[in-house]
Amino acid sequence: MKFSHPQADVFVPDSGLAPEAALAGVTHLCVAAHQDDIEIMAFAGIADCLDQPGNAFGGVVVTNGAGSPRAGAYAAYTDEQMQAVRREEQRTAARFGRYAVQVQLAHPSAAVKQPDHPGVAADLALIFSRCRPEIVYLHNPADKHDTHVAVLLRCLDAIRALPVDRRPGRVLGCEVWRDLDWLPDALKVPLDSGRHPELAAQLLRVFDSQISGGKRYDLATLGRRAANATYATSHATDVLAGITWAVDLTPLIQDPAPAVDAFVAGLVAQLGTDIADRLRRVG
Ligand SMILES: [Zn+2]
Repeated sequence: MKFSHPQADVFVPDSGLAPEAALAGVTHLCVAAHQDDIEIMAFAGIADCLDQPGNAFGGVVVTNGAGSPRAGAYAAYTDEQMQAVRREEQRTAARFGRYAVQVQLAHPSAAVKQPDHPGVAADLALIFSRCRPEIVYLHNPADKHDTHVAVLLRCLDAIRALPVDRRPGRVLGCEVWRDLDWLPDALKVPLDSGRHPELAAQLLRVFDSQISGGKRYDLATLGRRAANATYATSHATDVLAGITWAVDLTPLIQDPAPAVDAFVAGLVAQLGTDIADRLRRVG
């Protein structure tokens, strides 16, 4: 399995399988923009694979982690040193979370944001053609980080290029740099991220190069999950200890599929209707 960038990294934590075999067995796949996004958005999938024999989690990070803010112990690190640190942090997360395989494609963000970058397209085509996941976790289309949305769009292109019967069973768009409050509750998919709390915290703290710079992604992510669980329903007690919200993007990989912008505009319009209906009802 050969990826296009010379710095691409494929890591199989402890099964002893060849990377091709490890990827082929993946049932839960997350393709994210940066190191640490997987652990923020797809912890429910990681937990599903720990809890169910036969499930296997695969992680793919598309960018190289260059250009990330740095402070404290990392303040003097060059971009190359920072990339090496972040690559190793991601490998550590894969080891702690017992992922079947962790791929880091090492593309610069600018390449990912280019719609027809041949290397990015070839790498994602290779990944999606070499596994048959039941569920794929991607960024959500209303995320406010350009690179996140670009990775989502490149992944949808790669999946749509597959024959219909080779496509994943379900695709979910998860919250990172925007939550899912732009959706009416009925359209939100709750992902149970309240299991294995020690591991959940450990997987976020692995990314010390990001956290020690003063961005407490560990506290913020765990807090968001707890808040989501409590604020999910106003009339019932909390069922889950933590929720990561997702939006079902499976319609976008069906044939024919709606355009992504029209699909998202339709969802946002439903929130507008939900708000207007409530104002009318109690007005
Ligand atoms: Zn990110």
